Order: sequence, then C-alpha cells, then structure tokens
Amino acid sequence: MNCVKHALIFGGSRGIGLSVAQKFLNESFNVSIVSRSQNNVELALKKLRENKTNNGLISGYKCNVVNELEVAKLFKQIHECNQSVDVLVNAAGINKDSLLINCSQEVLRNITDTNLLGSMITCKHCLKTMIRQRKGTIVNIGSIIGLKGNIGQSAYAASKAGLIGFVKSLAKEVAPKGITVNIVCPGFIETDLTANVPLSNISRIPLKRLGTAEEVAECVFFLANSSFITGDVLVVDGGLSLQM
Ligand code: NAP
Repeated sequence: MNCVKHALIFGGSRGIGLSVAQKFLNESFNVSIVSRSQNNVELALKKLRENKTNNGLISGYKCNVVNELEVAKLFKQIHECNQSVDVLVNAAGINKDSLLINCSQEVLRNITDTNLLGSMITCKHCLKTMIRQRKGTIVNIGSIIGLKGNIGQSAYAASKAGLIGFVKSLAKEVAPKGITVNIVCPGFIETDLTANVPLSNISRIPLKRLGTAEEVAECVFFLANSSFITGDVLVVDGGLSLQM
C-alpha cells in the first residue's frame, strides 16, 4: 500500500471541493476528486496537474453521490487499487432558491438527496475502509443556513441542519474506531453556487466581502489534521452568523 496519505473529495470538480483538493495536493497528499460529470472531472484534473508542485498523485472519478451503487463501485475500485482513504471530504452540494410553496417535490428531493443522503452514502461506504484501517477523518461541508435558516432556502437549510445532526451522531458512532467526523459551515463563498448573490447580502457580512474557496479549504485541512476534534461544527462566514 502507498504510504502517502490519500484524500478523497466528493464535489472536487469545482468551487470549494476543487480548492480543498488543491490544498491537500499542496500538502503532499495523493488526491482523488469526484463529480457527476466526466467533463468537469477532466477540467479539474487539468487545473490540479498544472498547479502541482510535488509528487502527489491525482485521480478523478465520475460518480453521483445519490446513487449508492455508483458510490459502492467507486470504493471497490479504490480498494482494488490498494489505496487507503485517510481523509474523506463531502463537498458535493446543490441549491435552488425558491419559497417552499413554489417548490416541486422533485426540487425538494434533489436538494435533500444530494446534500444529506449523498453524504450519508459516501460516509457509509468510506467507513468500511476506514474501520478496516482503524483510522481516518471525515469532513463534511454544511452551511450557516443549516444553523440559522433563510427565506427561500428551507430545503437547503433542512439538508444542512440534518447534516449537522448526522455528523454529531456519526462522530459518536465511530470514535471508538479512531475515526473523527466534523463539519465546516461556510457563509457566502465566491463559487458558481453564489454567482447570483445580491450585493445587499455582502454588506451584511461584518468582514464586508465574500469568503474564498481557499479560506474554506484551509479550515477543512485544519479539521482533517486535528486528531482530538470530533463532532465539531466550524463556522467560516466572516462573522455573518453574528448578524442573523
Ligand atoms: P459548486 O461550485 O456548485 O460545486 C458543487 C460541486 O458538487 C461540484 O463539484 C459538483 O460537480 C458537485 N456535485 C453536485 N451534485 C453532485 C452529485 N449528485 N454527485 C457528485 N457531485 C456532485 O458549489 P460550492 O459553492 O463549491 O459548494 C460546495 C459545498 O459547499 C456544497 O455542499 C454547498 O452547499 C456548500 N456551501 C457553499 C457555500 C457558498 O457560498 N458557495 C456556502 C455554504 C455552503 P459536478 O457539477 O461536476 O457534478
């Protein structure tokens, strides 16, 4: 087995997940990124290879977190390549702002399935590997909306609040196996997901700017390397939740 540590990042093709992949790569991890689109995976791999400054290995996989068969197949592939999974990051997520009365069941299901069920499925399959290793760390990406709520984001808030409960329970479940589970809750971060954030929202942020994906990646890396922190919620929002 390769002794260089391996970080597996769902939602690593763009935004926060891609910055997390870059951070782990810079820190000499082997990195695997996962997204639904082969094309996006290829584009991300190209960017990571261009910025690579060490011998870290980079792999990419197409897999939809909502499809348990695909997720199981991905972990089987990783196992067959004799790779460990030392760090799992769940950054795959979607949102669609709309008042609840205008949300179809399909929209509600897509949001909760991707953001909550998807992370449960990836954790479930990754834990089989981590329990065998008797070590590992999982960092999920939540949101301050899951802590504070927001108009037009009830399904998104529910999925992210659910993720916090999931993280706290799972942390208790797997601590005896030497595995930690934490969650980073960003505020407004500059990515495709926030391309249409109104300027009025930025003025509400005490630090008066959007966060960067790199700033979130630093916090994910910190938690992934903090051996005595588990079940924790780390808010990364420029102070926004103080105002909510
Ligand atoms: P983004 O730029 O839209 O990236 C989302 C990532 O998730 C992409 O890599 C996308 O890949 C992947 N993805 C979406 N659905 C997937 C699925 N079913 N299976 C596999 N991969 C899937 O969004 P982001 O801003 O980086 O958000 C990342 C995470 O941070 C999300 O959980 C989001 O809720 C959370 N967050 C973001 C902000 C913010 O302000 N940006 C704030 C708080 C929390 P493909 O499209 O290639 O499949």
